[in-house]
Amino acid sequence: MSRQAKSRNAPLGPSPFAVEGERLPAEKFSDPQRTAKGEPRASVPLSRLDTLWLNTGTLCNLACATCYIESSPTNDALIYLGANDASRFLDEAEAMGTREIGFTGGEPFMNPDFPAMLQDSLARGFEVLILTNAMRPMRRHEGLLLDLLDTYRGKLTLRISLDHHTEAVHEGERGANSWAPAMAGLEWLSAKGFSIAVAGRLLPLEGEQAARAAYAQLFEAKGIAIDALDPARLVLFPEMDEDKDIAEITTACWDILGKSPSDIMCASSRMVVHRKGKDAPEVAACTLIPYDPEFLLGTSIEEATQEVPLNHPHCARFCVLGGASCSA
Ligand code: SF4
Ligand code: SF4
Repeated sequence: MSRQAKSRNAPLGPSPFAVEGERLPAEKFSDPQRTAKGEPRASVPLSRLDTLWLNTGTLCNLACATCYIESSPTNDALIYLGANDASRFLDEAEAMGTREIGFTGGEPFMNPDFPAMLQDSLARGFEVLILTNAMRPMRRHEGLLLDLLDTYRGKLTLRISLDHHTEAVHEGERGANSWAPAMAGLEWLSAKGFSIAVAGRLLPLEGEQAARAAYAQLFEAKGIAIDALDPARLVLFPEMDEDKDIAEITTACWDILGKSPSDIMCASSRMVVHRKGKDAPEVAACTLIPYDPEFLLGTSIEEATQEVPLNHPHCARFCVLGGASCSA
């Protein structure tokens, strides 16, 4: 059953970003060592912990139609991460020479301990990336953000989810009355000189070039200082649907696709999550698979440094293939 409960403004129809396709056969992604065809499954070793993500909890002011983590105003499957727990993981990350701390949720600004975790991370010298919808929970912390900008300019970036360059599609995914507050938040951050990025999505059949051009027009019209042609400033994500069929990734795929395991997110990052009912937070292989016990690797970063078998549809669709095809 979905963990997501509807909020007042939750979208009513199907997501405009829904993935078309056949249902995923049950025999796929069932054995960490072998694919359904019996081929050796690819895996990814951790080469360096460049980014440590702290999941602040799944509660969110929105309930987007295809939120991969099923966030909503009532889903607390991942409870609020506490600042004391976070600090233990920051100690470990510091010792490992980690560059960046990423905060994601849910909506990070809803966690009452978030300001403390944010300040702790910046004071330790980490670069910090906050994923936010830039709506009311963030706006309540304008004073804090301005103080941090003063002290840590160049170290702090906020990435705002603006699912589409049109209000209609954005609200089709995110619900009624979600466009104007997000745009206002984005405009405020830009006007104050924060380092900002936008995370968007492509509609089925919408080309990346066309989408970037349309975002560029929007940013220009609203005076938002983001270069829509810069893939680091306008991040356009491929779709994810773990129920739809997708090829499994074998060890032969790397050569066929011209990719290396070190290009994949779980080669350089991990995410801390605190599951409801658990005494302590755990470390997940990546930000995309927060609930699957197979991808929860331990209760410390040290315990979570093992190689990750790519045994989930997200590994294929989002990380390795990203729309490409891998067939020998
Ligand atoms: S704003 Fe983000 S975390 Fe919240 S429901 Fe939407 S996609 Fe999920
Ligand atoms: S989805 Fe799979 S391949 Fe991608 S980062 Fe997570 S564990 Fe790694």
